[in-house]
Amino acid sequence: MKMMKALVHEAAGRKNASIRMVPYPVCGDDEVVIKVMACGICKWAEINHDTEGGGGTLAKYPVITGHEFAGYIVEVGKNVTEYKIGDRVTADNAIPCGKCWYCRNGKPLLCEHFGSHGHNINGGFAQYLKIVAKNVVKLPDNLSFDEASVAEPVACAVEALDRANIKPGEEVIVSGMGPHGLILAQLCHFSSAQHSVAIGLVESRLKTLESYGVPTILAERNDASVHEAKLREMFPHGVDCIIDTSGAWPMVQSLLKFLRKGGRFVQYGSYHSSIQIENPAKFLNDLHFNNQSYVGVSCQVNNFPRAIEYMANGKCNVSTLVTHTFDLDDYFLALDTNKTDKSTLKVVIHPNGDPNKETDLS
Ligand SMILES: [Zn+2]
Ligand SMILES: [Zn+2]
Repeated sequence: MKMMKALVHEAAGRKNASIRMVPYPVCGDDEVVIKVMACGICKWAEINHDTEGGGGTLAKYPVITGHEFAGYIVEVGKNVTEYKIGDRVTADNAIPCGKCWYCRNGKPLLCEHFGSHGHNINGGFAQYLKIVAKNVVKLPDNLSFDEASVAEPVACAVEALDRANIKPGEEVIVSGMGPHGLILAQLCHFSSAQHSVAIGLVESRLKTLESYGVPTILAERNDASVHEAKLREMFPHGVDCIIDTSGAWPMVQSLLKFLRKGGRFVQYGSYHSSIQIENPAKFLNDLHFNNQSYVGVSCQVNNFPRAIEYMANGKCNVSTLVTHTFDLDDYFLALDTNKTDKSTLKVVIHPNGDPNKETDLS
C-alpha cells in the first residue's frame, strides 16, 4: 500500500498527536489529490488542536490538521475535467453540508454541519491531501506556494471586507498588526473607502504597510492619548467603520471613541475569555443610541477565487507575510516558534521538502 507522512491528531492535545506514516488518500471520482508543497500554521486553530481540552468547535478526531495549503495536482478523479496533473493550485478548505437549513437557504457560511479540511476532514500537514475538485483554485505564475498558502486568511479577510460593507467615500480604521491586520489594512486601502488607516504596535510591520501605500499610525500601549490625538487629527468627524483584528480590548475601547453615529464595528479577532466589559449595558446602549452596528466575522466560504485575484494583482501583497518555514518533521518546533518568537507572522510547513525545487509528480 502506498503510504505518506502526516501530522495526525488522535485527539486534541500534543500528547495525542504524532508525525507518522498513514495510507495515501484514495481519489474519488469528483476529487483531486494535491501534493502539498506548503501548508501554513493558523496560530489560533493549531494552538487549539495542540491544547488538551481544545480543538475548537469544528474539530473532529482523528484528523490530519492544516487548512491553509497549496501544491501540485498529482491525481484527478474520472469526472474531473477542469484540472490536470501538474497544475499548481490551492483549494478552499470549507465544505458546507449543502443539506441543512442554512445551506438550503443560500447561507453556506452559516452551515450547521460545517466541514473543514484540517479541522474535521484531513488537511494539509501531510505529503498529500484529497479534496473535491470544485474547491480547487489554480495559481497564477506570480504566486509562490508559500504565498498561496496564505489564500485562506486572505479569503477570510475578503469576508470581513464584504460584511464591513464599505461604501464610496467612507473612512475606516483597521487595528492589529498580525497577518490578518496586515491583509485587511491592504484590502481596506484598496476598497471604495476614501481614507483608511492601519493602527498597530509593531513599527516594522507598519513600515511594510507604508511601503504598499497604506497610511498607518503607531499605537501607544501605555498612553492611548498619543495615538488618539493622531486619529483625531486624521478623522476629526470619526470613521464609518472599525475592523478590529487585534483582539486587544483596551485598543477597542480606545478606537470606539472614533466610531461615527451609524458606524459599523467589525470584530475579526477573538477576545480572551478573561476580558471584562466594565458596563455591558452602557456598551450596548452606546451602540443602540448611536445607531451603530456590531458585525462578527470568523470564517469564509467561496472567497478563494477573489483572494487569489487580490494577491496576484498586488492589492494584497503577502510576500513578506511568510517569515519562517519548516519541514513537516519539525512541526512542533514550528508551532512553538510561532507561539514564542515575536518575529513570526506566518509560519509555513513544507511536507515535501523545498517547494522551489523540481518535484516528482507521479
Ligand atoms: Zn486559517
Ligand atoms: Zn449545511
